[in-house]
Formats: sequence, structure tokens, C-alpha cells
Amino acid sequence: MLGRLCRWLRLLGEDVSYCRESEGGEIIYRSLKERRVVLTRNTKLSKKRAFDLFLLESQDFRKQLKSVIQKYGISIDSEKIFTRCSECNRLLIGVDKKEVKNSVPEYVYCSHEDFSVCPACKKIFWKGTHKSLIGKVLDSLK
Ligand SMILES: [Zn+2]
Repeated sequence: MLGRLCRWLRLLGEDVSYCRESEGGEIIYRSLKERRVVLTRNTKLSKKRAFDLFLLESQDFRKQLKSVIQKYGISIDSEKIFTRCSECNRLLIGVDKKEVKNSVPEYVYCSHEDFSVCPACKKIFWKGTHKSLIGKVLDSLK
């Protein structure tokens, strides 16, 4: 339900675990065990006692992102952005530009210097375009 919010928080460098709603008990258990904040739109789940729980009212991911950033004082730090895979939450590893030559579009290869790769899904990230996209979305939140 909050997949998009989840990916955005990871792009900002936050450690975010994603669970299906049907795993309600598991969500609460992991929240307590790993001291995680539960972000949910499910009012039933929101009545359970987690480590911390934030019930999101909006369906719009921009509004959700804004409310989470405000509530938890998340910093938009360029050092933190793109340190984590948006798909699997693993920390990215910086790679030598030459290693990604055959894996990214040529114009990307020519116009960027800073590449990193996810050790789990092998997705390649580069800061340039993503960064301006993030900037645009964050600007739209103001
Ligand atoms: Zn990944």
C-alpha cells in the first residue's frame, strides 16, 4: 500500500522495511524487535502496540513523504541520498565507472562519474538524474 513512499524514503537514505498488510502480526513483532517505526494507512493495525506507529492519512505519496519527513525530522542530506537501494533496502556499493560501461545507457555513462550498485539486485544507481528528480519532488512538497 505504501510502496512508493517506501522507495522514496530509501532513496533519502532511510532504512525502510516493507511488509504486506496481511502480515500484521509480523509487522508489530518486527517493530518491537528491531525498534522500527510502523508506517501504515491501516486504522486496525494502528491500534496495535508497536515500538512506534504513525498512521498516514493521505493516499498521495507526496503528502505522505512530507508528513513523515516532518514528524521524524528526516534530513535531506546529499551525503545520505543514494546510499541505499530503493528496491531492496541494501546499502549500495560504489563502483568504478568502467565496471558499469555495458550496463547503463551510453549518455548516462558519458555524463556521470559517480556510480553505485546494489549487492542484492545489482541495480545500478547514478546520482545526477535521480538527484534532480528528488529535488523536484522535494520542492513540490514545500
Ligand atoms: Zn537492490
